Amino acid sequence: MNPIKSFPVAVPLRSRTTVGAEAAFVDTSVRCPVRGLELPLEECAECRRDAGRFVDVESGNAFICCEVEPETSPDPLLQSEICLVPEPENPANRTPVSEIMTTHVVCVSPDLPVRELERLLLETGISGVPVVDAEGRPIGMVSKTDLVRRHSRPPGLVGDFELVRDVMITLAFCLPANESVARAAALMAFETVHRVPVVGSRGQVIGLVSPLDILRWLARGSGYVMPNTAPRTDDPSLFDFSAPTMDSDLPFAD
Ligand code: SF4
Repeated sequence: MNPIKSFPVAVPLRSRTTVGAEAAFVDTSVRCPVRGLELPLEECAECRRDAGRFVDVESGNAFICCEVEPETSPDPLLQSEICLVPEPENPANRTPVSEIMTTHVVCVSPDLPVRELERLLLETGISGVPVVDAEGRPIGMVSKTDLVRRHSRPPGLVGDFELVRDVMITLAFCLPANESVARAAALMAFETVHRVPVVGSRGQVIGLVSPLDILRWLARGSGYVMPNTAPRTDDPSLFDFSAPTMDSDLPFAD
């Protein structure tokens, strides 16, 4: 009997940082090419195909090296409920959002104090973040617009101890990772939203796509070199709420 041959596949690691009232938690996951599922990285440690981790020195992105047999095939792609007539000739219909999305996403829990959310957005330069439940599934969105709206309330109607759940929008338009760039663009344009969480097979946030991601993809496709201008979200001090920096010098502070 012929031995089963395998070949190495570089599978990018994705991270979701959830900022809560007490601490920030990082969940790292991979899109398993064999099982066709989004899996916690810990499951790879139990897998015989795990051949180690490496970091691409140029981009700084981390990968798991996965030994895949040619006979294995991923599960069927997830189906989208968004209705649109596809145009196969258009690359935007063939390219999945997973290829252009931000894969290191900052999320917040609904019990995060608004003051800490203000600090987080200011220090990272992020305009808005998904609000997630304990499983990392999106339950809403919160942005600088919501904070400005809060501060425009009449005096006396802005509570000192409000939480994210008091100001967030309890609706999040999401897309599965295999959905096309075209549908992401259509969704953002139709619903006038600026960021769409990308969810894995268990409904958890695994990425975020914005109009800027689509513009970068278009520019790269035309031969332009695009710098990586994603906001810094890998500095643990950004989530250290014991640091006394939230004060009246911040634009959103009371
Ligand atoms: S190491 Fe195993 S569980 Fe992890 S991505 Fe590869 S096949 Fe999937």
